[in-house]
Order: sequence, then structure tokens, then C-alpha cells
Amino acid sequence: SPKENTIKGLIEKQVSAEVYALLLQIGSLADEHDIHIYLIGGIVRDLLLNRPNEDIDIVVEGNGIEFAQLLEQKLGGQVKVHEKFGTAVWTTPTSLKLDIVTCRTEYYDSPATLPIVKASNLREDLRRRDFTINAMAIQLNKNNFGLIIDYFQGQDDLTSKKIRILHTLSFIEDPTRIIRAVRFATRFNYVLAKQTRNLAIDASALLKQVSATRFLHELKLLLSENAIISGIDMLNELGVWKSLFGINVTEKQLDIIRAVKGRNEEDPFVYLLALIFDKSNWKHLVSRYALTANNQQLIRQLEAMEEINWDSKATLSELHEVFAPYQNNNVNLFALLTQEPLLETYIEKASTLPVLLTGKDLMANGIKPGPTYSDIFHQLTCLQLDEEINTKEEAHDWLLTLHKKIR
Ligand code: ATP
Repeated sequence: SPKENTIKGLIEKQVSAEVYALLLQIGSLADEHDIHIYLIGGIVRDLLLNRPNEDIDIVVEGNGIEFAQLLEQKLGGQVKVHEKFGTAVWTTPTSLKLDIVTCRTEYYDSPATLPIVKASNLREDLRRRDFTINAMAIQLNKNNFGLIIDYFQGQDDLTSKKIRILHTLSFIEDPTRIIRAVRFATRFNYVLAKQTRNLAIDASALLKQVSATRFLHELKLLLSENAIISGIDMLNELGVWKSLFGINVTEKQLDIIRAVKGRNEEDPFVYLLALIFDKSNWKHLVSRYALTANNQQLIRQLEAMEEINWDSKATLSELHEVFAPYQNNNVNLFALLTQEPLLETYIEKASTLPVLLTGKDLMANGIKPGPTYSDIFHQLTCLQLDEEINTKEEAHDWLLTLHKKIR
């Protein structure tokens, strides 16, 4: 039988008065219909850790969708049903959102694919979860309100700061749990339990079989954590980057990742690029993860920029001639990935050039609006980059001589 204790007082202290009252109401309504009902997942963990968490996940032993509809009838608000997943989101009259689902079991037909789902009881629902600290529930029914249900010693692992899977096949069933393990370990500053760590290493090669969409989704969640560098490092120690790309992450790559993060980059694809760009077959390695048109354009432009042969003594205007056709963002990223000092100088300078002439100035000089305008601005940028024109006065003088030529 599970270790049981009640944290009614802790819940009352941790959540808002509104949420607390709501949880009591939900428990009472479930009692009226003879349904067992529980808080579950991350919010249970965070209540025990005294960390804020607004994601209220509720499971019922019974029909989750029907219970959500009951809540709507009794307490108002609005229910949105996802028939396909057997889940419902109830938006309360005060706009809180609660996920309400049926307890379910998952079966895996083959590794690294999506499971087959079936309704079940609480224990089965907890058993399919990723880690002991995420596999606890808190009962909401009135007589047991606040009772912690902890079949897998999640509370012990919170105390000893361990991430632990529930059974030895866990990473084989779902290799994305390896990334999730690292995510929670970096967030809470925990370590993987010894066997969990060894099993993660054994299963790391299976991440190759995970769809790009699911892989990038988990990576993105990891990247949104603060301790992203230690996360990438930890995945390295588990052999993930070796399995996926044949690489060991170096300090240099971690520096580049830091710089990418410093630019507030949110696309996980760009981080993968940063990890493997110095390999000659980077394009081959990363193309399966290029899911958006943007990603594909980025690959094409990086490839084209790699082909460019420029002289290390090139002037900034010469660089501008070569790089102006590419998207600014992509040129910036290319500079960051190659750590080419001359390119960095060019970008720094090009992005801080003062505006010396505007369209108005051109019109005032009798030049008709049209394609010549961008030609003129391009030429001016080149002259500014080489510091041949530095002031508005010089720019106006230049425009006059140019104007004579154009006429
Ligand atoms: P966060 O604090 O980042 O929101 P969370 O614990 O709420 O984390 P979610 O990704 O929202 O995590 O998932 C909710 C719950 O669903 C988890 O606590 C876990 O029990 C379960 N879960 C999610 N993904 C998996 C998975 N791949 N395998 C097993 N269980 C999972």
C-alpha cells in the first residue's frame, strides 16, 4: 500500500483562496456522484516543493469528460472537449483553466512510438508516468481531501533530490523521457538516480527513432529552463549528442550556445545547428529537424554563405556586397557559428550606422522614387562602412554629385 499522509494545510497555504475553494467544490461534486478524484502530476510535486504552479491537472476514476460537463452545469464556465484524447479543459467563470482527464493506462506496441491508451484506475495512471516525483496524486474527495497518494516513493526522491524512472523499460518505451529527466534535474538541481542514469545511457541511441517533432518539442522545453548549458552538458554525458550526431560537445560549442541563448533564440533547431555546425556534414545531420520553411531557408542560406570565398583583408563594403543579399538574422547567426572576427566587425558596424539620408532627401533633390532609391542607399551604406562618408553634410554633397551623374 502507498505511503499516505495529508497536506490539506499546505495546499491551503500554497494556492490562492479562489483555487482552494474551487478544489473543495470539485471534491464535493465528485462525492455526490461517487467518483474518486485527484490532483495529479507537476502541481503535486510543486506543492510539496513549495514552488508556484498554476497548471491544475485533475484525473477522475470514471469519465473525465462527463465530469467536466458536470462542473460546467453546476459551477458555470465553459468546457472544451478533446474526444480523441479523452480529455477536457474546463475554463471556470473567473477564467482559470483546469485539465480534467480520465485515469488511463498506456501500452507500448513498439519502442519510441506513441502508446495505445485505455481507461483505468489511479494506480495504473500513475504507473505510466515518467518519474517518481511526477507520479504522485492528491485526493480531493471531502473525507480524504489533501491525502497524498505516493505508490513509488516520490516523496523520498524529493527529499534525496533524485530523478528516478518507475520501471526499467521506461526510456525504451519513450526515449524523450531522457530529455525530460535532464530538464527536471537541471531545474531542481537534482541528479539522476544511478540505475536511471545507466538506463538513460543505454537508451540514448533510441532518440534517433523519435520523430523530429517530438524531439524538438522536448528540446524546446529544456531550452526554456534557466540552466540550459548544464542541460546540454548533461545530455552529452548521457551520450545523446554522440548517438544523434557523433559528437562530444566542447567548451567552444557551449560558448556558441550561450551566445545563441543570449540572442533570445527560441527555435530549438538553431541550437542543434550550433552544436554541429563545425562538422562538414552538418547539413546532412540537421536536415531531418528542419521542419519549418524558415529552417529550410536558414540551411540554404548558411550553405551559400559557407561557399563564399572572401579575402581576410576585404573591406567592410566588400563584405557588404557579398552578404547583403542574405537575411540579416541569418548573416548574424552565420557570424556567430563561424566566430569569424571580420564578419563580426562588419555586423556590429552595419547595425549601428547612423541614418544620413532619407527618401525625403532624395525627393528634395528631384530624384524620382523607384528602384534607384535602394541602389543609392546601398552605395551610401558601403561608403559609410568604409568611413568615406561620416556626416549628413558629406552625404548631401555626395548626393549632389551623384544627382548630376544620374541626370
Ligand atoms: P512543468 O512543471 O514543466 O509543467 P509537468 O510535470 O507539469 O512539468 P508536463 O510536461 O506538463 O510536465 O506533463 C504533465 C505530467 O504528465 C507530468 O508530471 C508527468 O507525470 C506526465 N508526463 C508528461 N510527459 C510524459 C512522458 N513523456 N512520459 C510519461 N509521463 C509523462
